[in-house]
Amino acid sequence: MNIQTEVPMIVDWPATWSKILLFLTCHWKFWLQEGSKFVTGKADIPFSTNRAMQLGEAKHDLYEIAVKTIHMGLQVSNAVTNNPLWNPRIGEIIEALLSEYQCATTEKKIGLDSTWGAWSLGEYWNPNKVAFGSRKMLLRTKMDFVLLNNFDSPTHAVIVDWKSGKARKPGTLGQLALYALVAFCKWPTLGLVDCAYIFVDHDRKDVKRYYRTDLPALKNHFTSQILTIQQYLKDASTKIPTGDCTPGNCHWCAATKEQCDERT
Ligand code: SF4
Repeated sequence: MNIQTEVPMIVDWPATWSKILLFLTCHWKFWLQEGSKFVTGKADIPFSTNRAMQLGEAKHDLYEIAVKTIHMGLQVSNAVTNNPLWNPRIGEIIEALLSEYQCATTEKKIGLDSTWGAWSLGEYWNPNKVAFGSRKMLLRTKMDFVLLNNFDSPTHAVIVDWKSGKARKPGTLGQLALYALVAFCKWPTLGLVDCAYIFVDHDRKDVKRYYRTDLPALKNHFTSQILTIQQYLKDASTKIPTGDCTPGNCHWCAATKEQCDERT
């Protein structure tokens, strides 16, 4: 696919990394959780959380408080450090990163419209841009921790994704690539983005480096993925969707046996 400045959206459906991943791992599960909404207005499997997700979210909340507190030059409170989910390594990691990049940003919910160039932020509604929550948004993402070498015209960014679960090797064109794409679009002066998974409980960090010259390939890759999913959703609203399921992803699936067996 050629590089496009404007992506012709097929249906109004904002992509996120977790939804792209859901589609890639099991089309049918994606249909039950997302696609069914296009036909009935209600998901066959409504969104729900489990204990592991709740623990992960609680840890992320603690890390976010720590980032904000340390960035302000303050001590992390006892309420945070006494929390059994707190890991003292987090404070050390945040301090080390902030000593290198003086500038952190809370602008972490970033959505791109179909031109890739217009962006909007979750925290700050900008009437000239597409709303972050709008279904007209092509892509939206939430980053855990963003560091810039200069706030007004950054040339280097570090994007951190805290991982509280099992340590896994990141792919070159996975979630970290999506962060890089969004960062290059949002900050046009950026030449270099380092995206990192930090596995706090495993003392492990995996970093992928992206250059602005990677931008056309990143755009092509995610445009292709997003449009494939949009086409699937469009077709699904007029005929029964076929499910291309990958066994092995079923362990955590909320689909009942009957729902799973419905796939063609
Ligand atoms: S149980 Fe497995 S095959 Fe069935 S929908 Fe869920 S992930 Fe897909």
